[in-house]
Amino acid sequence: MRPSILYPLFAPLESLSGVGKNYMRLLSGLCGNKIVDLLWHFPSSLIDRRCNLKLNMVQNGKIWSGKVRVVEHCPPKSKKQPYRIVVEDETEQLILVFFKIYAQSLLNNFPVGKEKIVSGKIEIFNNCLTMNHPDYVVDVSTPEKLPEIEPVYPLTAGVTNKMLIKLMPQVLARVPDFPEWLEQSVLEKNGWDSFKKSLFKVHYPQSFDDLEPNCPARRRLAYDELLANQLSLAIVRSKMKHTQGRSIAGDGHLRRKLMENLEFELTKAQQRVIAEIQSDMAAKYRMSRLLQGDVGSGKTIVALMTMLNAVECGLQTAIMAPTEILAKQHFESLAEICSKIGVEIALLTGSIKGKKREGILTRLISGEIDILVGTHALFTDDVVFKNLAYIVIDEQHRFGVNQRLKLSEKGRFCDCLVMTATPIPRTLVLTQFGDMEYSKIDELPAGRKPVVTSMLNLNKLNEVKSALMHKIKNSQTQAYWVCPLVEESEKVDLSAACERFENLKETFGDMVGLVHGKMKEAEKNQVMERFKNGEIKILVSTTVIEVGVNVPNATLMIIEHAERFGLAQLHQLRGRIKRGFEASNCVLMYGYPLSAVARERLNIMRKTEDGFEISEKDLELRGGGEVLGTKQSGFSNFKIADLSVHSELLYAANKHAELILNRDPELRSPQGQNLRTLLYLFERDEAIKTYNAG
Ligand code: ADP
Ligand code: MG
Repeated sequence: MRPSILYPLFAPLESLSGVGKNYMRLLSGLCGNKIVDLLWHFPSSLIDRRCNLKLNMVQNGKIWSGKVRVVEHCPPKSKKQPYRIVVEDETEQLILVFFKIYAQSLLNNFPVGKEKIVSGKIEIFNNCLTMNHPDYVVDVSTPEKLPEIEPVYPLTAGVTNKMLIKLMPQVLARVPDFPEWLEQSVLEKNGWDSFKKSLFKVHYPQSFDDLEPNCPARRRLAYDELLANQLSLAIVRSKMKHTQGRSIAGDGHLRRKLMENLEFELTKAQQRVIAEIQSDMAAKYRMSRLLQGDVGSGKTIVALMTMLNAVECGLQTAIMAPTEILAKQHFESLAEICSKIGVEIALLTGSIKGKKREGILTRLISGEIDILVGTHALFTDDVVFKNLAYIVIDEQHRFGVNQRLKLSEKGRFCDCLVMTATPIPRTLVLTQFGDMEYSKIDELPAGRKPVVTSMLNLNKLNEVKSALMHKIKNSQTQAYWVCPLVEESEKVDLSAACERFENLKETFGDMVGLVHGKMKEAEKNQVMERFKNGEIKILVSTTVIEVGVNVPNATLMIIEHAERFGLAQLHQLRGRIKRGFEASNCVLMYGYPLSAVARERLNIMRKTEDGFEISEKDLELRGGGEVLGTKQSGFSNFKIADLSVHSELLYAANKHAELILNRDPELRSPQGQNLRTLLYLFERDEAIKTYNAG
């Protein structure tokens, strides 16, 4: 339950005076529909309205404020003309221009000879200083009515800065005097004020320094947000550590057999992560571990080795892939090895039905099947294992902590390994996967061929086609042709791919195939099959081939409008052509105009194949949500903290969270209670729920 001290902040925006249904809708498009959402909506700039220049010093386009005397009124001579009022200070004249004319009120407001304080943007027009519709007109007797410094907020259509400025005092008035959740020593060391004071400083900046993400007030709030994030993940993590699991430690007979049948030696990195996983499996609590390893680093064999550990104990295991194609591919490659070492493996996907499905279910419940491969269909209710003990989830980095919690409810007592080929920067590992243990394969098997990556303007399409024709005629080469992803609309995506398919068919005829996300699974599989066996030479696709597909002769990849893809995504795509026997080529085709950032991003792809380097750069250039492909779901977005500037705060928060929980694992001390409020304030309640779950 949310503590009552937070109720005023978690009320709907409509409870503010002056906010009706319409305004509420606009605001929720801007930041959210609770008052607290507006609290996190920080100014991005400011306007200095202090009167410290005379008119003869003013610059075109700048905001100017000052005292002026009214000289004369010039009413319009025709309907098209504006109303003008000439005013002056000791140095210069200024013309106030009004397009909307209420002559009487202007006469009342600006009596000739009187002094007024005006503030607004200066424009030089026909050699005259002019100000269109002053932002403020204030009596000289009440200069305090002109705000000296005005915050400028990010806006959306229908919401003006004035509206937000008017609203903010109401919002800030709802902020309670929270009991401090940070230790005095932390505040002192950093020179931080209380939460409330810091918020006021952020919303009422006094200088441009106060807008910097690294000013003390913003750092304090960013730290609060990061601490809430790290604390909640650490709670979930320690919960896992205290959840009863099985101690899984086989005698090694199957693993030895596997090694005897393997044509290669495991890399050092593979051996290390296998050891890490196995020692975690051997412990009595439940394992929840993330395994990160670039495309081609050999995660499958790691999964198999550790699954065999469980099978040696007479336990069952499951491996789950995101698509049927990938599940099938896993099954095929694993089945070949399993048959050699006498391990029972089966495939279960949505398209396996009827007798066949029933047969598998029967063998599953009897315990005959050791390893079950499938999609998320593995977790439907009628799939019952005899003794499932270990689940491997492949390529599911888009899972948030909430989904992971849900999944672990289904696989009670099961150890769980999540594998991903998306190189995730360290900061994102901490913020998104901080609830899990972590292993990383940081070495590729020896002898991998490089991929030569080049950039080409899309207007060179014909040259690319003829080069492709030459290649295909003179070698075994096969090619992927990836069409742009237009996130807003799957339809547009699709039509781009279909169009390119038709267009390439004119040149290449039957050698071209097409796959896309809207195809039926069976249809898709059929095309993939024909590509695998070489009937199809050029596979046109949308990003459905993003993960996992393995075709050794495919050593060429052409990506259209590469500038529209995330770097992590391009890296994944490029990984597809790394599995071959030959050196490969990747052509990044771009459209005009190409922005400087876009060019820089594509250049990174040309310069390096190191996924981790690429992902760190991607994070710098685009932000976390993009790296993980979760911008839409928003799960990786912080409201205040910005990992490209606050990473050192994150590391500090990570350590701090650990310290706090060591001292007070259930957050029961007085400070612990205050920290619970912090968790609720930043909507990290999932962690506290795990306390309640017992
Ligand atoms: P990914 O990590 O992308 O899932 P895979 O597990 O599919 O990579 O492995 C890619 C290829 O590398 C497979 O053909 C696999 O057999 C091979 N491989 C894995 N480990 C090694 C190794 N230590 N030495 C040589 N080849 C390996
Ligand atoms: Mg894989």
